[in-house]
Parts: sequence; structure tokens; C-alpha cells
Amino acid sequence: MVSRGQALLERLKDEVLVFDGAMGTMLFQAGLTPGACPELWNAERPDVLQGIHRAYFDAGSDLVETNSFGGTRLKLKAFGLEGRCRELNEQAARLARGVCPPGGYVAGSMGPTGHLPDTFEPLGDTPADLFYESFREQAQALAAGGVDLFAIETMMIPDEAVLAIKAAKDATGLPVMCSMTFQFNQVRGVDRTMWGTSPADAAATLVEAGADIVGCNCGDGGPGRVPAILAEMRTTTSAFLAAYPNAGIPKVVGDKTVYDLSPDAMAAAFPAIVAAGARIVGACCGSTPAHIRRIAETVRGLRAV
Ligand SMILES: [Zn+2]
Repeated sequence: MVSRGQALLERLKDEVLVFDGAMGTMLFQAGLTPGACPELWNAERPDVLQGIHRAYFDAGSDLVETNSFGGTRLKLKAFGLEGRCRELNEQAARLARGVCPPGGYVAGSMGPTGHLPDTFEPLGDTPADLFYESFREQAQALAAGGVDLFAIETMMIPDEAVLAIKAAKDATGLPVMCSMTFQFNQVRGVDRTMWGTSPADAAATLVEAGADIVGCNCGDGGPGRVPAILAEMRTTTSAFLAAYPNAGIPKVVGDKTVYDLSPDAMAAAFPAIVAAGARIVGACCGSTPAHIRRIAETVRGLRAV
């Protein structure tokens, strides 16, 4: 029998699928306090999580991702919750699986650990095998809870992304999507990771490590930079591409970061993103189900390129 993850990869050969929007933005709207551990809500506020997943599916998402972005042991440690790593990730997957309609998919979110590889002198603090074990443990728990694939995302350090991809593949064999965050350097007019990697080099590295789908998410360039980033990735890989930018360019107002693209303005960027090769499209920080609804309506009629 073909797994749901494999079926998803088959569909990407000639379809554009819609991912979901922001999780953090929705959790803050629901009352999560800044500085609190979002993954703890998988245990304490499962109703809120399922309401968010359901809202994205209702808006037109073909796949949603679990509330486990910060769910590695390395990251949970900051909250003293590393002992609940398995439970919180497995529960994250169960909650999304529980409201996933037939034909929908659940991606297990895996974000950066917040640590630097110890090969990065002088600030690096964490050996490669600790990253690997941490991601492997998270991937196993997400798979036990029923995810169809992994969404390794918002990665800024290729070395960390590579370890996450390998750990997820070794642990489960499920498809892996890996997406990096790029910042737009206005002076030089180029998109680079925080550590200076180009989209072309990043895509080649991620695919070599085993990623089935590569792309970009979050970032400070908004959806307008995505076509250029994907075009660069395309020069080094023929893998499926994914893009889920923020709802505009982040601006700091007082002590808050705000994103000002309306659902209509956001959706207007997606014909060019699909034309650049994206097969999975969605949105990141600042977006809501209203953004996903307009993006879904916009890309439904578009031919996969
Ligand atoms: Zn984001």
C-alpha cells in the first residue's frame, strides 16, 4: 500500500498543494503569553490546537503542520520541559491527525534548536550528534502520533538543517520537506541565510542530505522575494519546491512585530510564486486562515510549472 506521504509526493508531480498559515500568530490570538512554551498547549489546550488546524483545512489547506516547531529536546530544555519531549510531539501529531479530512495531510513541524554547531567558532555550543539525536527523537514521536511527512523549517544554518533531514529520514523513512529562511540584503540585492548561504547552495545541500521537497519560509523579504529565491534554487535542483513567506515585511511597532499584508495583497503574489515552480504554497508569520483562503482560491486555477 502506498503511504499518504508517498501519495502526496505523487500528487506534487502535477499539482500545486496548499499548506497552512501561521501557528504562532494564531496561538497568541488565542491567549498564549509571549515567552510561554507553545508546545505545552498540545497537552493543556488541545481544543485550541484542533480549532486552528480545522480552520486551516476549512480555508483550503491540503496539508497542515503540527504545533511542534520548538519541540526538540534541545529547545524544550529552555522551559524545563525536555522530559516531556516524546509526549508533546506525539500529542501534536495526534491533534492534527484527529481533524485531518480524507485527502488531507499532516506535516510534522521541526524548527531550529536555537543552538549553534560547535564547529562554529567561537560561539558554537552543541556537537553534531546532539542535534542529530534531538531531531531523531522528535521525528520518531511525531511519526508515532501519525504525521505523513516532516516540515523542517525556518532553518538558518545549513549544517543544522542537514542533521535534521538525516535524523528524520533515518528515524522513519517518511518524506521530508526542508525550508530555509532567507534575508534580503538590500545593499547587494541578494537573498542569503543568516549565515550567508545562497538559495542555490542551500537547495543543493538540502537535497543531497535527502530532502524530497525544498524551499523557503518566513524571512524578511515578504512574498515579493520568493520568485527570485525559487528561481535560484531551481538552478541547482529539480526537487519539488515549497514556499510559505510571511504576510509582508516585518515591522517593529512598540514591542510588537507586525505584518501588514492583507489576504488579497498576499494572494496577489502567488501567481508569480507558482510560475517560479512552487508546488506547495502557504504562508508564515502574520498570516491567518483568511490569508490561506485567498491563496487557495488564487492557486487552484493555476497550472503547476
Ligand atoms: Zn515565519
